[in-house]
Amino acid sequence: MTATDAINGFDFHCHVDLFPDPPAVIEQCEKERIAVLAVTTTPRAWAQNRDWTKSSALVHASVGLHPELVGQRYAEADLLERLIGECRLVGEVGLDGSPQHRKSYDRQKLVFSRALTAAQAHGGRVLTIHSRRAARDVIDLIDQHCDPGDVLCILHWFSGSAAQAKRAIESGCYFSVNTAMLRHERGRSLVQGLPKERLLTETDAPFMKVNGGPSQPSNAIEILGELSALFGEPHDRLLSQITINAQRVYSFAGIKIENAGGA
Ligand code: MN
Repeated sequence: MTATDAINGFDFHCHVDLFPDPPAVIEQCEKERIAVLAVTTTPRAWAQNRDWTKSSALVHASVGLHPELVGQRYAEADLLERLIGECRLVGEVGLDGSPQHRKSYDRQKLVFSRALTAAQAHGGRVLTIHSRRAARDVIDLIDQHCDPGDVLCILHWFSGSAAQAKRAIESGCYFSVNTAMLRHERGRSLVQGLPKERLLTETDAPFMKVNGGPSQPSNAIEILGELSALFGEPHDRLLSQITINAQRVYSFAGIKIENAGGA
């Protein structure tokens, strides 16, 4: 295996289907050697995303129902639950406790609980989870419904407290970190306190802003540089650590990432 076969970055939370030309994004990820977990926001989008990604060795689609959409799409919870039987990657799911989504919060909890229960029943599921202003409830529900031996939870763009992060670590959660989290001291110190073996990277593309524009999966390479500065570790060592973590996560879902790990 040559160095060019190695994976250059991992984007564990990317909305490929919200770009104007998703197949072109997938092709670009292959070219730049970025492994991507392509989240979806409604279970109805799953079939199309599965078809786009089925021949890709690096881009894998997940089935989700975004908490911000639960208010309008509560009826799709049945489909979400059913599709978790077919797809071992699940997301975007979770809770959003922001004032504008407060009205649907009880329904969000029902949908998220059903997703966790289905994931636990099937086992070997990996979830990418939204927890804005809802970290405590998200962790409570994970603890209530899931065993970390059966369900691997990744907290995406985590913005809870250090104490909540500690609880999530004890519950077996991983954390996918993006550059926006490192723009403030609170985020940097939170990330610095995470165990390295639970650390993953993401872009939340196209939602995260980078230099005033929408993020791209390739920002998963830049975050490695920022993390390496934050931890004072060489880029290569950090990439190897993230690669090992990523392989552990993908293999939990029975997915082999082509040529991960380089040499
Ligand atoms: Mn997202």
